[in-house]
Amino acid sequence: MSNATQLIHSIPTDPLTGSISVPIYQTSTFVQEAPGVNRGYDYARSNNPTRATLENLISGLEKGQVAAAFGSGLAAIDAVVKLLKSGDEILAVDDIYGGAFRLFTQVYEKFGIKVNYVDTTDVENVLNALTPNTKLIWLETPTNPTLKISDIRAIANLAKARSCWLCVDNTFATPALQQPLSLGADLVVHSATKYLGGHSDLIAGVVVAREKELGEKIKFIQNASGAILGPFDSWLVIRGIETLHLRIEKHCRNAQAVAEFLETHPAVDKIFYPGLPSHPNHLIAKQQSKGFGGIVSFTLKDDTAAAAVQFVTATHYFKLAESLGGIKSLLCHPANMTHKSIPGAIRRAAGVADSLVRLSVGLEDSDDLISDLDQAFEKLEKNTTANKNEELLTRVHA
Ligand SMILES: *Cc1c(COP(=O)(O)O)cnc(C)c1O
Repeated sequence: MSNATQLIHSIPTDPLTGSISVPIYQTSTFVQEAPGVNRGYDYARSNNPTRATLENLISGLEKGQVAAAFGSGLAAIDAVVKLLKSGDEILAVDDIYGGAFRLFTQVYEKFGIKVNYVDTTDVENVLNALTPNTKLIWLETPTNPTLKISDIRAIANLAKARSCWLCVDNTFATPALQQPLSLGADLVVHSATKYLGGHSDLIAGVVVAREKELGEKIKFIQNASGAILGPFDSWLVIRGIETLHLRIEKHCRNAQAVAEFLETHPAVDKIFYPGLPSHPNHLIAKQQSKGFGGIVSFTLKDDTAAAAVQFVTATHYFKLAESLGGIKSLLCHPANMTHKSIPGAIRRAAGVADSLVRLSVGLEDSDDLISDLDQAFEKLEKNTTANKNEELLTRVHA
């Protein structure tokens, strides 16, 4: 049975009524026959049948034992950090999601949890940065927005040898392309806000554990801290996941076409897409994932924030917005948006140039998306020429 068939048929029909859609159990509590005598549910923070269906579904998709759904991706990340205690250290990918960086430094550092950031694309850097206190290795692969790829299996082996956990933020790849738990990771987290939900209509997160014991620890934290996902949003994520394989296939095809177009465009300087043979980690990407995802980033020859701002406000189908992974194409200017809080020098050193533009390639027809980008480049060029002429004129008058 293929993954898609297995996925679709792992969503149960309602045993009570035969409803083919998962019922939304919009309730806070469950009536008990006698104290402690119930049908597996007592209070909806601890467990809810709609949320449980989502958790079973994602756990199966990621080939894990236990999953827990949270009110956001950051709440899911927060639950993983809560496995640690004061004095423990995290070794994290340097090109980490900004919200995770903020959580680690501004919330958890004061509780005595230290984080070391390294370029994890080189496994040797990971080995050199491990200390006796490292309890958790934190990877994102591909990263945001420069699409760096790290070798999950090699780093999982290091984690195992040093008895620390490896957690992979699998938001960008999704289990349709990459299954970190099968490569030896202990935990996977998702911002289900992105591809799992897939329609830009909710905020949600999940944690999946490879082994039951660690999964039970996450479930304990989920109930103890209480940042659960509500039943309606759980239902929306289930509905999104039903078409995950189909959507991801098209996201990948469209992104590849867009990346190949950008690669030939004279206004483009660097292009970041793991599906291009020119990407420095193309081979490892090909080895550990079935496809290269829907995110493409690029910089302009005119490497200025002003040029990027002109570009991102000149497209029609690519809407200017933060977030990614929905059916509609989006684009953003990280230097001014998602990465604005990072000081310029640090941001540039991490590869996020002033003119870097990130595309979340949606499910429109790829020809339409390419002509949209093409006309935005034309506008940019006209503007540049006009600006240059104006500048020449002021020099003549001066
Ligand atoms: C968006 C995102 C998050 C945070 O998820 P929220 O649902 O916004 O809380 C974490 N990691 C990655 C890679 C993301 O893109």
